[in-house]
Amino acid sequence: MADNCIFCKIVRSEIPATVVYQDEQVVAFRDINPAAPTHILIIPREHIGSAAEVDASSALLAGYLVQIAAQIAKQEKLVEGGYRLVTNIGADAGQSVPHLHFHLLGGRQMAWPPG
Ligand code: 5GP
Ligand code: ZN
Repeated sequence: MADNCIFCKIVRSEIPATVVYQDEQVVAFRDINPAAPTHILIIPREHIGSAAEVDASSALLAGYLVQIAAQIAKQEKLVEGGYRLVTNIGADAGQSVPHLHFHLLGGRQMAWPPG
C-alpha cells in the first residue's frame, strides 16, 4: 500500500470507482476518462509501481492480471471484435499513475502503432 497512490485509494475504497470485478488479489474498474467505448483498468491490490518492477515474487500475480483481463473481455463481449491490453511504463509511454495497471480497450477499431 502506498498512502498517496490514487489506485491504492481505489483499492481501499477511499475514492469511488465503477468496479466491474474484484477478488483478494485484483480490482478492475472503468477508466474515468475512457479512450474507447470499453476502457477498464485491471490492477493488483498490492502496490507495484509498474510492469518494470515485476520480479519472481510477483510474476504469478502479473500473469493473473492477464487472466482476469481475458475473463473481463468475455464478460464485456469484446472477444469477437477484438480488444487491446496495454500497460504503460514510465514517462515516454505516458504512464500517469505509478501503480501497475493493464488497460483493457475495446468496442472500436484502433490504430497501430499508437501516435
Ligand atoms: P496511465 O496513463 O498511467 O497508463 O493510465 C492511467 C489511467 O488512469 C488513465 O487512463 C486515467 O484516465 C485513469 N485514471 C486516473 N485517475 C483515475 C481515477 O481516479 N479513477 C479512474 N477510474 N481512473 C483514473
Ligand atoms: Zn498504489
